[in-house]
Amino acid sequence: MFTTTLFLCASAFASSSGNDPFFDQRMSMVEAQIKQRGILDPQVLAAMLKVQRHLFVPEKYQSSAYEDYPLSIGHEQTISQPYIVAYMTEAAKLHKGDTVLEIGTGSGYQAAILAEIVGKVYTVELIESLADTAQKRLKDLGYQNIFVKQGDGYQSWKDNAPYDAIIVTAAPDSIPNALIDQLKPGGRMVIPVGSFHQELYLVTKTESGIDKKLLLPVRFVPMVKPKED
Ligand code: SAH
Repeated sequence: MFTTTLFLCASAFASSSGNDPFFDQRMSMVEAQIKQRGILDPQVLAAMLKVQRHLFVPEKYQSSAYEDYPLSIGHEQTISQPYIVAYMTEAAKLHKGDTVLEIGTGSGYQAAILAEIVGKVYTVELIESLADTAQKRLKDLGYQNIFVKQGDGYQSWKDNAPYDAIIVTAAPDSIPNALIDQLKPGGRMVIPVGSFHQELYLVTKTESGIDKKLLLPVRFVPMVKPKED
C-alpha cells in the first residue's frame, strides 16, 4: 500500500513537471539558492523556475546546471551562477512592457530570463560562435522577443535605444558612456565594474546625470575591448 501511494505521488508530480527530468532540481535551486537568499520578486522567481537552465549549458555539464556556481560555456566564458542572474534581474526593477539591452549574451540564459518578464530583449555578444549558438537556441525554444547581435557592447545597440534597463554581464573597467547615453530618463543599468576587484552597481539615469548605488562584490569575465582594424 505504502509503495503504491508513493508511486502515485511520483507520477502525478512527473506529469505536472511536463516530462522535464530537471524540474525537481530547478525547484530546489529557486527555493534554496534564490528565495532563501532574499530574492522575492515573484516575476523573477517565476522566470527562474520556468527557464530550463540545463538547455543553456554544454551537454557534459547538464547534471550540474542547477548547482550554486557558474559553468563554462566554452571560449573561456561562463554562464553566471543562478543567484547572480536572479539578483541582477531583480535589481533592474523590470516592468512588463520594458525594452531591455543585455551586453554579453553568452549562452542566452540571462536573455531568456529577461524575456519571460519584459516586452523586448536586445542582446549583444562579441564572440561570433557564441552569438550564433545562442540565437539558434533561443529561436528553437520559441522566444520571439529576443534579438541577438554579434558586436561590441562598448558600442551598445543604438538602433533600438533608449532602453528602460541595461544588464551588463561582463565587467568593464569603468561604466561606458555609450550605455548611459542609451538609457531612458529613470532607466536602470546593472553593471559589474573593475578588473581584479569588481563591484556590482545599480546605475539610475536622473535629470542631472546618474545615481550610482553599490550592490555587492562580484566576479565576472572582463568586458573585452576589441582590437581596432
Ligand atoms: N549572460 C551570459 C553570460 C555572460 S559571460 C549568460 O547568461 O550565459 C560574458 C559574455 O560577455 C561572454 O560571452 C563574452 O564573450 C561577452 N563579452 C565580453 N566582452 C564583450 C563586449 N565588449 N561586447 C559584447 N560581449 C562581450
